[in-house]
Order: sequence, then C-alpha cells, then structure tokens
Amino acid sequence: MHLGPKAAIKNLLKKYRVQPSKGLGQNFLIDKGAVNKVIKAADLRLEDVVLEIGPGLGVLTQKLAEKVKKVMAVEKDPSLIRILNNELRIMKVKNVKVTQGDILKILNSKLPIPNSYKVVANLPFYLTAPAIRKFLEADTQPKSMLLIVQREVAQRICAKPPKMNLLAVSVQFYADPKIISYVSKKSFWPQPKIDAAIIKIIPYKSALLSASLRFYFFKIVRAGFSQPRKQLINNLFKKLKVDKMKIGSWLWESNIQSSQRAETLSIKDWLKLTKIFKSYYGNFK
Ligand code: SAM
Repeated sequence: MHLGPKAAIKNLLKKYRVQPSKGLGQNFLIDKGAVNKVIKAADLRLEDVVLEIGPGLGVLTQKLAEKVKKVMAVEKDPSLIRILNNELRIMKVKNVKVTQGDILKILNSKLPIPNSYKVVANLPFYLTAPAIRKFLEADTQPKSMLLIVQREVAQRICAKPPKMNLLAVSVQFYADPKIISYVSKKSFWPQPKIDAAIIKIIPYKSALLSASLRFYFFKIVRAGFSQPRKQLINNLFKKLKVDKMKIGSWLWESNIQSSQRAETLSIKDWLKLTKIFKSYYGNFK
C-alpha cells in the first residue's frame, strides 16, 4: 500500500518510537504540492550544493538529492538523524551528508561553508530571523535562500515603506526577498496554529555599504526602530545620545522630516542617513 506523506511520517516516528518536538519546531511538511513548489522555486541545477537547515525526516531532502550534486543537511535533533540516515541508506541516496548540530553554532567550525551554495529549509519559527541573519552576514553568502516561514513573518520580511520594520530593513539591506506563495497550515503535521509562506531571498551581488559603514547603518536603524510608534528624531536622540539640534539638520540634509516614523523610511533613506552621519558626528561608539 502506498502511504500519503502524513501516514508515512507518523509510521516512521512510530517505528522508531520518537515524538515530534514542539521546542524544536518540528512541523513536518506533508503536502506534496508544497514540496514541489519549494523544489521548483529553488531553481536547482545538477552542479548545485544545497545546504538544508533542519531536514527532519527528509521530505524535502530526498527531493533535493534527486536534483543536485550534494545536499549538506544540518539537523539538531539526534533522534531524527538516526531515522533519516537509516531511510537514506534504504533508499540508496548517496549524495546527502547529515551533520548533527545547531545551525547557528556550527557554521565554519564543524561545518565549513562551501564556496558556492543555495540554502533550502522549512524553518522552525524560533529560528527564522537568526538563521536568515546568520547566512546574510556570512563571509560567503548563499546564492539564494528558499525558505518556508510563518505567513506573517514572510510579510514582515518583504514589507515596504510606510510599513517597514527592523527585520525588513535587516534583510533588505543584504538581499531582495520575495513571497513565492502561501502554504496552508494543513500542509504540516503536527498542524501549527498559523499558515506559512514560501519566500525566496537573493543576496545582492555587491554590498550596499563597506563593512565599517555597516556598523553605523545598523546602529542608526536599531536606534530609529527602538520605539516604532515614536518619531524618528526622538528615538535617535534617546539612543544615539547626540545633540538634538544637530539631529534635526542631519535629518534635513538627508531629506527626511523630523516627524517621520522609522517605518516610513526606505533602505535608500537609511543609507543616506548613514553616509551623512559620519560628516556630522565623526566616529562614535
Ligand atoms: N524539513 C522537514 C520537513 O519539512 O518536514 C522538517 C522541518 S521542521 C519545521 C524544522 C526542523 O528543524 C526539525 O527537524 C528540527 O529538529 C530542526 N531544527 C530545529 N532547530 C534547529 C537548529 N537550531 N539547527 C538545525 N536544525 C534545527
């Protein structure tokens, strides 16, 4: 009898006497349609190396392995790795290497980052923002990231002015994110409370700012969003601890009104603020 993905996953967990872990965000993909959408949108080539975060029981992993040269999968849960390695052996899949560890900790130590790679993942909720940041800030960024994340988080990442937020600026400083499609919560087991979305993040070929100015950029952005409902000038004054009059002219010279809120600023506005900032304040800590 051919089992559907949900029955297959339940069967596997039962066979190995393992329960899905809530803490690790284990909501397994059980919808073939969603799996196919991810694979198609990842735009994979036979020579590609894919780094998969959280392969779980391998629903995506096996499909990825058919399409690319190598899959480097990083899974935190040792009990799932035992199952996954066994199943990959039974299926005679030879181009998947599973590494045990926390993706936020093992990059470039236990797991060297390849020269050229794409990231694919059905991410646990708690890991979304830190994992995206980790890869966008890496010395060798991925060519693309194809991710399943919570619907609201996807919308926040792709937001535009006047609805920007800290996460959107942090991602859009490095990359161009796009929502590919939405995925119903019914596509996962155990079923989460919230629908999801497939997003694709493609890092820019060259950085928008030098490494030294990047430090100022994020210092200013974080200060600007420190109290998102408040006017930009007050947030900058409070957090950067610099003269308020001078902030007024800094904003004016950057073509930004003092009464604006951080959510109304585009990436270009933040870049302008950063570049003009140094001529006003020199170095600051
Ligand atoms: N890829 C599988 C799928 O689509 O069915 C599982 C996705 S599930 C949403 C998230 C997976 O990430 C789980 O297997 C979980 O154990 C793993 N995980 C959670 N935290 C992790 C971390 N810090 N590093 C690596 N994997 C992690």
